[in-house]
Amino acid sequence: MSYISQPCFLDFATAHAVANSFGTPVYVYDQKTLEANAAAVLAFPNAFGLTARYAMKAAPNAAILKLFSNAGLHIDASSGYEVHRAVAAGISADKISLSAQELPVDLGDLIMAGVVFNACSLSQLERFGQLNPGGHVGIRINPGAGSGGNNRTNVGGYSSSFGIWHELIPQIKELLARYKLTAVRIHTHIGSGSDPEVWLKVAEMNFDIVRQFPDVVTLNLGGGYKVGRMPDENSTDLQVIGQPVKEKFEDFSIDTGRKIHLEIEPGSYLVANTCAILSEVQDLASTGADGYDFIKLNTGMTELLRPSIYGAQHLISLLQPKAQKSAKDYIVVGHCCESGDILTPAPGEPELLAPRKLPEASIGDYCVIDGAGAYASAMTPKHYNSYPEAAEVILEASGSARLIRRRQELEDIWANEV
Ligand SMILES: *Cc1c(COP(=O)(O)O)cnc(C)c1O
Repeated sequence: MSYISQPCFLDFATAHAVANSFGTPVYVYDQKTLEANAAAVLAFPNAFGLTARYAMKAAPNAAILKLFSNAGLHIDASSGYEVHRAVAAGISADKISLSAQELPVDLGDLIMAGVVFNACSLSQLERFGQLNPGGHVGIRINPGAGSGGNNRTNVGGYSSSFGIWHELIPQIKELLARYKLTAVRIHTHIGSGSDPEVWLKVAEMNFDIVRQFPDVVTLNLGGGYKVGRMPDENSTDLQVIGQPVKEKFEDFSIDTGRKIHLEIEPGSYLVANTCAILSEVQDLASTGADGYDFIKLNTGMTELLRPSIYGAQHLISLLQPKAQKSAKDYIVVGHCCESGDILTPAPGEPELLAPRKLPEASIGDYCVIDGAGAYASAMTPKHYNSYPEAAEVILEASGSARLIRRRQELEDIWANEV
């Protein structure tokens, strides 16, 4: 794949101003795109009402949580710690739903505060019942199918541990009866992608489950809307996938008289293309005529791990004081002493290299990595090689950049050592 690309929302002048004020590497979020995405999610087609939650694990900075909350989104938290982080950012507990792999030790307090809870395993359901007999609960089911991009992003089916396996519904009912619980919500987050056919199938499977729980009033279809980060990758059209889903809700109501409320909780869709990492070319290397030309950045897996673990593709552009006419094939690498710190792997093949065509690079050029909003700042092996955590800024509608996370001080890295 070779692109000579332009960054999505940074030009040389803006990049230069941000670099001068905040240094590099720095995450630059775009407020206009964040707001537009929130509006698109809140317009998801629905028959009997919608609650849209932001899956905050994608990018948990308080400034982003507040922006989305002000726009009307609620929050999906993936751990008890995320619940506390959202509350600390000013989100009220009753707007937070928790679906976690690990049950927080203070679950009882969180529920008392108004957090909505989805049991993601039989033992979670049992522990919830012991804490809160007679309570209302959501059940996360693994309906036996998923369509995530690969084994690491697939969150439904045999190879996924998320949720209660659909064949265990009798055991769920047994626990509901034992602790006098009411199942009011069914939750399935299976990473359904961008195909309306798949969404239709998912909605059908879900209603087969809802049918078996007469007190359920809400169906949560999770997140997992595919977002293209490269020009040749598809993105989900929420209006297109949502329409057949809406019709399923209407059909179910005609069949059963039950008007089910829809919840969705996208992460990637809301943030993936709202952020770019602004970095600098800090060195160049070549391995000769039969080898490769390398661009070495002052960023890498410490800010963006997805290429190293998924072979994820991100748009990479150079911003130069004077645009270069000649182009070259480059492998772009990060600054860690780790051979896997590669920003141009082959698509889906983190072990393989895929050169990109870029303008001839010089040390000191700005390099912009787009599509770095979701699972970027949130999911890094930060502190590897003792690089301090990068700063985060938000480009406001006015065009000025506001700091939303300071660059970490070096001493902070070892502050907890005793
Ligand atoms: C991660 C997650 C999401 C969001 O997934 P995206 O692929 O980022 O949209 C939604 N719901 C749950 C329960 C999750 O764990």
